Amino acid sequence: MAWFKRIKPSIRTTDRRDVPEGLWSKCDECGAMLHRRQLEENLNTCNECGHHFRISPYRYFSILFDNEEFTEFDDCLRTADPLGFTDTKKYPDRVHDTIEKSGKTEACRNAYGKSAGADLVISAMDFGFIGGSMGSVVGEKISRAADKAIELNAPLIVISQSGGARMMEGAFSLMQMAKTAARLTRLGERKLPFISLMTDPTMGGISASFAMLGDLNISEPKALIGFAGPRVIRDTIKRDLPEGFQRAEFLLEHGFVDMIVHRKELKQRLAKTLSMMRVEG
Ligand SMILES: [Zn+2]
Repeated sequence: MAWFKRIKPSIRTTDRRDVPEGLWSKCDECGAMLHRRQLEENLNTCNECGHHFRISPYRYFSILFDNEEFTEFDDCLRTADPLGFTDTKKYPDRVHDTIEKSGKTEACRNAYGKSAGADLVISAMDFGFIGGSMGSVVGEKISRAADKAIELNAPLIVISQSGGARMMEGAFSLMQMAKTAARLTRLGERKLPFISLMTDPTMGGISASFAMLGDLNISEPKALIGFAGPRVIRDTIKRDLPEGFQRAEFLLEHGFVDMIVHRKELKQRLAKTLSMMRVEG
């Protein structure tokens, strides 16, 4: 059975929702009114409180690749419907409607290019496509990004932004956890760095698989990172949870995250880290 299908590559080059409506955006954290141009100059972070707005894979590519030049690959994969799943609507209809409405093609995009002059492969997830959930296509794309890194002898960065597994694909979705984790070990065998960048949110099957397997696990400030949501945990253990539970800063303090990096320093910090990890010869 095919878990996904190949279609002709999309001719779309931008996500329609990349462009915010109007000239002003309100910071979700501190309520400051931020001018769109100023917000873009600050890489979609609030200059009052440092809040990191959620951004698309293309925005990460433009931030991290030199001169915003990159080559996208495997944009031709579309999900199949292995379970014939229906909730309030049929799964294929939900996928179709999401593509039509958002201009996004799946919850993950792959690209390679140069970053700080060195080859780099990036696989970036997108919460705007069914909550960034990992179905068969997302798992396949992350696995292929690992293959591309091996082909180019380059490091891989996976940028997570996801609510977890895609429920509409049931066990096929959960299998992607094992598949991606297994494929990433091939990078280690070749001494190629795998960097995990966790952004808000990195939850469920994502944090339980590849997102925590980086040679370096980095997070953006205040990102929500965890497995089950706090309400589920509180109701299960019948205890109050510590202040800041499941936030990046809490996880850094408890050793689950290696470093927290502001988006404006991300490219520079990555370049420095990767140059230290590079194995000569
Ligand atoms: Zn703010």
